[in-house]
Amino acid sequence: MTSISDNVKRIRENIADVAIASGRSPNDISLVAASKTKSAEDVRQAISAGVDAVGENRVQELVAKHSQGAYLGAPLHFIGTLQSNKVNKVVGVCDLIDSLSSASLLTQIGRRAESLGIVQDVLVEVNVGNEPQKAGIVPEKLDELMELASNTNGIKVLGLMAIPPFCSDKKKLCYYFDIMFQLFVDISAKKYDNVSVQFLSMGMSDSYTEAIKAGSNMVRIGTALFGER
Ligand SMILES: *Cc1c(COP(=O)(O)O)cnc(C)c1O
Repeated sequence: MTSISDNVKRIRENIADVAIASGRSPNDISLVAASKTKSAEDVRQAISAGVDAVGENRVQELVAKHSQGAYLGAPLHFIGTLQSNKVNKVVGVCDLIDSLSSASLLTQIGRRAESLGIVQDVLVEVNVGNEPQKAGIVPEKLDELMELASNTNGIKVLGLMAIPPFCSDKKKLCYYFDIMFQLFVDISAKKYDNVSVQFLSMGMSDSYTEAIKAGSNMVRIGTALFGER
């Protein structure tokens, strides 16, 4: 069995290879360890192996591991579906909420952040495949959400996140990654208040090299880093 630090090392090497092959710097790609179901000790090992951030999916799990000091030394992201009754538990606790998926969540996060006297950094999750069962803003509604963000205090949008439809065909997957990169370029070109586009978060264990080739600069990796869940 390979260790978490071996896995991080191997993933970093793969990231560096594709980054360089696409004319970019390996340092521009942020590696987020997706640590759902993994122990506080596993998370600590990932952090000491040098991941750039840790991403949690479930609020309850995040709160538990947080109280065990699991995240010391690395930024903490919330990457799961956020229910409105859990907003207060993540705003101000997470450095980045990668999965802002609706106008009402945006308003609630902004309100909570304002009451704490902070600005919460977020990424907007895009439902790039228009899948009814999936969270996120459909591409046609993205501009409207950015407008709302520009009029909402307590929030700063740092970019976009996506979990494309499952595609066994890598070519089809790349089609969705390309759409995301275009959306990222489009919103970067527009000047909204409260929006400072830096991150395009896409790519997981089985797709991060394709995602980076398509322009991702933040990958969220679980299985390849921690082993099977
Ligand atoms: C679990 C998860 C990942 C990582 O998935 P793997 O396939 O295990 O790498 C990435 N993003 C989100 C939102 C996740 O829930």
